[in-house]
Amino acid sequence: MHPETAAIRTRAEQSPHREHATSIYMTSSYTFDSAEHARALFAKEMEGPVYSRYSNPGVDEFVAKVCQMENAEDGVAVATGMSAVFTPFGALLNTGDHLLCSQSVFGSTTQIANKILPRWGIETSFAPIEDPEAWPDLFRPNTKLVCIETPSNPALDLIDLEWISKLCKERGVLLFVDNVFATPVVQRPLDYGADLVMHSTTKFMDGQGRSLGGIVVGKKEVIEEVRFFARHTGPALSPFNAWLVSKSLETLYVRMERHCQSALKVAQFLEGHSEVAFVKYPHLPSHPQYELAKRQMAMGGGIVTFDVKGGLEQGRRFLDALQMCSLSANLGDTRTICTHPASTTHSSLTDEERAAVGILPGFVRIAVGLEYIDDIIADLDQALQASKG
Ligand SMILES: *Cc1c(COP(=O)(O)O)cnc(C)c1O
Repeated sequence: MHPETAAIRTRAEQSPHREHATSIYMTSSYTFDSAEHARALFAKEMEGPVYSRYSNPGVDEFVAKVCQMENAEDGVAVATGMSAVFTPFGALLNTGDHLLCSQSVFGSTTQIANKILPRWGIETSFAPIEDPEAWPDLFRPNTKLVCIETPSNPALDLIDLEWISKLCKERGVLLFVDNVFATPVVQRPLDYGADLVMHSTTKFMDGQGRSLGGIVVGKKEVIEEVRFFARHTGPALSPFNAWLVSKSLETLYVRMERHCQSALKVAQFLEGHSEVAFVKYPHLPSHPQYELAKRQMAMGGGIVTFDVKGGLEQGRRFLDALQMCSLSANLGDTRTICTHPASTTHSSLTDEERAAVGILPGFVRIAVGLEYIDDIIADLDQALQASKG
């Protein structure tokens, strides 16, 4: 089956009612036919659900779909994207281990590395995304895991997946990839040699801004360790959210095509606009890593960033002038969302710290939605005109 078909046709075990859409299995536990049946299930001599903290037919269906889409052997579903970052960290990192992390990863991932892992004696080095040549020297003999995100949020810088996989393989280090911005529709990091891929299903996978969820997929033996940690620490995905996202995966490929098509048009529009200082979009020839983006990403993704000429104040005026696009912290929704990192998500950083992760004062991130493209562009255009100083 092609992944597009697997996303639609992968099913949980059929119930006697032969329902066409998968049911929601809102149950915390399952019954045993006999004492012997219970014993065999617990002894893992038989397969079957026991307790929803570690198995639920609807959750398992969702995991099976994502595994096919990411070309993964196995996976574990969890309650949020951050749990899909922390659960593998908790499962794989021991006291004395070293984590090598791209400097440009999701804010909460940085917080885990800076504030939580040191409590267990796990040190992190941050590698500059714009300087790949610095990376080899940052590995240590005790480096256990490399954590990256490509394209990065919000600056849309890329990491060459083939290059980083090779670097990790040569050193026997596991590679963990946050693939939230790209989705498996745009790139499949496991095909390049990554060991683990995580998703916040909150974003494009749900795609409609309704639920939180996360998933980690990858090599079977690594996922075994993640599963053990998740089973006993309990970050389980709710059966309702699993059902919601599993249904959404059926449309992920067609939705991503539209997100990416419209994002490219938005990027092209902004590139010619008099109020815009620069635009960044992976499949725009002006992107500094355009060649890599073309090689590694099937499409450019659903996110566009740009910088207004007038800096912080014009950035804020632009957001206030929007009439249709939403101001929200989410992304990957049917509705176009604009954010201004310098005054919101990254406001606690200094100008220098923001600049280091590619955020200038007038920097705006657009998560391009599924509205008719002309309406999106018209709203951006009128807000840019209105934002003039
Ligand atoms: C949102 C996001 C996360 C965290 O996911 P939650 O579901 O909010 O916990 C991690 N990485 C990236 C790139 C994200 O956009």
